[in-house]
Amino acid sequence: MILVLVEIDDGALALVSQEALTFARGLGEPVEAVVLAAPGTDTSAAVADCAVQGVARVHLVDGPDLISYAAAAWASVVAGVLAETGASTLVASGSGRASEILAHVAARLDVPMAANALEASPVGESTEAVGGQARMPDQGSDTGTGLLVRRQVLGGAVVESTLLAAVPAILTVAGHAVEPVAAPVAGAASVVTVTPRIEPDDLRAQVASVTPRSGGDGASLTKAKVVVGAGRGAGGPDGFGGVDALAAKLGGVVGVSRVVTSLGWRPHHEQVGQTGSRINPDLYVPCGISGAIQHWAGCSSSKTIIAINTDAEAPMVTKAAYAIVGDMHEVIPAILAALDKRG
Ligand SMILES: Cc1cc2nc3c(=O)[nH]c(=O)nc-3n(C[C@H](O)[C@H](O)[C@H](O)COP(=O)(O)OP(=O)(O)OC[C@H]3O[C@@H](n4cnc5c(N)ncnc54)[C@H](O)[C@@H]3O)c2cc1C
Repeated sequence: MILVLVEIDDGALALVSQEALTFARGLGEPVEAVVLAAPGTDTSAAVADCAVQGVARVHLVDGPDLISYAAAAWASVVAGVLAETGASTLVASGSGRASEILAHVAARLDVPMAANALEASPVGESTEAVGGQARMPDQGSDTGTGLLVRRQVLGGAVVESTLLAAVPAILTVAGHAVEPVAAPVAGAASVVTVTPRIEPDDLRAQVASVTPRSGGDGASLTKAKVVVGAGRGAGGPDGFGGVDALAAKLGGVVGVSRVVTSLGWRPHHEQVGQTGSRINPDLYVPCGISGAIQHWAGCSSSKTIIAINTDAEAPMVTKAAYAIVGDMHEVIPAILAALDKRG
């Protein structure tokens, strides 16, 4: 059985958790989910989403000790469900919180964990079941028995194959590496309520308070269907008028390179990349962004990229599906004028 730690976002199952469930189904069945929630949280929509993803059982853990996030306590709860169910594999999204919890679980059980998996395949016994979107090619490291995981490291600059030889196998799924797909047959998603038993020691480090950043938190960037990007080519803090207007015109949001945030031209929550947000819009329009590997790590899941850049050899231009070679301060107004004409 595969156990998946899932997270709730805005009352529903987080997109990255849907991705993790789709990934987990590829590893074998049945798939069960564990969700941790503060008392009184409405989990009905998330449970319904689990059913769509083919989940057989949802282990719903709630209790007053879960009101504030404490990695060790949450990990102890997940480890308890893992032991109770006897799951062979524990999967979660690669979100910051889920990664932290699974790392704690792995440390408690003294087993390895693979973060940011793209694909996984059992080796040594059956190699039929494959997680992720494509069957993993022979990587030459298939000696031994366990789960062979292909995973992103160094912000996606390198893809590594690693063998998880321990049971349970513990892994997180790289954000947006898998398209969430409904299961062919919905799962029963029967809810089992679990009362957490948390040791006081596990609550020594917990979140004391949360202060939303002024101006946003990057959440809209990760969910946006259209992102208009801007880099050093914007020229300065006053160079974003066209980018803002184009994003508004296309019903999207603005995402920027690290140069832009480091120079203080725009706030950090707008940054795309290895140390910013990972986006997967239908359309990404990076303007004056070179496409350094750290930026690419955050935007490579975009479905279509149209780059605007003065340099025809810039990596972003060569990797994009379409490119307009020219000055963004001339190209963007021309696009806006053309869109205005179309009404
Ligand atoms: C550990 C680490 C983490 C990092 N994390 C991130 C990250 O999360 N996100 C990120 O973005 N970067 C990150 N970086 C930085 C990254 O390496 C690059 O330095 C950065 O992405 C470059 O930003 P840029 O493309 O805006 O600037 P540049 O590399 O200077 O490129 C500017 C581009 O604009 C073009 N241009 C100039 N003028 C115009 C114009 N008028 N019209 C059109 N095009 C024009 C140029 O041809 C060029 O291609 C990280 C670096 C490190 C070491």
